[in-house]
Amino acid sequence: MSFFDSVELGPPIEVFQLTKQYTEDDFPQKVNLGVGAYRTDDGKPWVLPVVRTAEKALANDDSLNKEYLPVLGLDLFSVLSTKMLLGSDSVPLAENRAFGVQVLSGTGALRVGAEFLAKRLGKTVFYFSKPTWENHRLVFLNAGFQEAREYRYWHEANRALDLEGFLEDLNNAPEGAVVILHACAHNPTGCDPTQEQWGQIAKVVKERKLFPFFDSAYQGFASGDLNKDAWAVRFFVNQGFEIFCAQSYAKNFGLYNERTGNLVVVSNNLANVAAVKSQITLIIRGNYSNPPSHGARIVAYVLSNKELNDQWGENIKTMSSRIIQMRKRLREELEALGTPGSWNHITDQIGMFSYTGLNEAQSLHMVQKHHIYMLKSGRISMCGITPNNVQYVAKSIHETLT
Ligand code: PLP
Repeated sequence: MSFFDSVELGPPIEVFQLTKQYTEDDFPQKVNLGVGAYRTDDGKPWVLPVVRTAEKALANDDSLNKEYLPVLGLDLFSVLSTKMLLGSDSVPLAENRAFGVQVLSGTGALRVGAEFLAKRLGKTVFYFSKPTWENHRLVFLNAGFQEAREYRYWHEANRALDLEGFLEDLNNAPEGAVVILHACAHNPTGCDPTQEQWGQIAKVVKERKLFPFFDSAYQGFASGDLNKDAWAVRFFVNQGFEIFCAQSYAKNFGLYNERTGNLVVVSNNLANVAAVKSQITLIIRGNYSNPPSHGARIVAYVLSNKELNDQWGENIKTMSSRIIQMRKRLREELEALGTPGSWNHITDQIGMFSYTGLNEAQSLHMVQKHHIYMLKSGRISMCGITPNNVQYVAKSIHETLT
């Protein structure tokens, strides 16, 4: 007899399970295309050189200590991070109607923001793209939302955005519902709306009085250009929307395990800012009290130093251009092999992930026969493809489809 007898075994988390299987696999040519983390040409994790530089400087700074940060985290980090998202010419920033709070990476930003919306504003319904990053549903439901709804996003047959379905589903949303929008480099499809399509989306969001909650996990990482990747968020803000935006430094700084993130709030009324901040403070206090400092100090150090900031820009370009290059190579290899189907979507997509179009059985075959670890949905992380394994990956896809 145990206190825990009634606890049922929960389902495994696919992406972490894949990494475990990959680690335990001793096949020499194994490839991990499951986890969304950058790999060097040799398939190794990469600590950004600029991060190492910052860490060394911080380690030698005797003025830093291990005292608690405030509940809302390191102020300099949040200020610089919010500016990076909204742009230095942002009107809400100049008018102090926009602010950020340091949180536990992108997931923590979503969680704190969602809990605020559910518990302080009584929001119950949220929308996420079909498909989306697999954690949106769980985070929002755990934060107190009651109803998870999908809007159509991916058109399977066209292997492209289903704009019509997207707009129709938002048009049918109840007034005041919260809609999660990927700021750039949509996960898992790698397919983003064009600027013109964002205009149409914004129109429906406005008409239906929905609340846009942006998820920005890939700023700079997608195109190599911080401003370009923030376009959609800035467009909404310039249109006068009030928004939340979850910012993650996992990918663009490679700070995956430092849990470094920022929740950005843009309000249309300066008079509300203090109250909103105070309620977010209470939510964080009741969750984890205050955030860790290491990652936030690194980001603040880099963003506040022109030379390091430029170096970071170079590091981002190294990652984004390798991904773009690997998309090209993978497509070329598949086309050269004459692999059935069209492969232009591989190069049309952007960011870390690609939706290959492989179905569940084919994806499983890739894992079991070729030791290429990928999600059942056919999603692959382009970061795991390197000049050293691209041919093997292409040949394996070819074998799977023929
Ligand atoms: N949102 C999206 C769309 C993501 O792809 C990810 C990570 O893969 C996250 C949020 C959260 O990442 P983290 O909590 O590691 O910052």
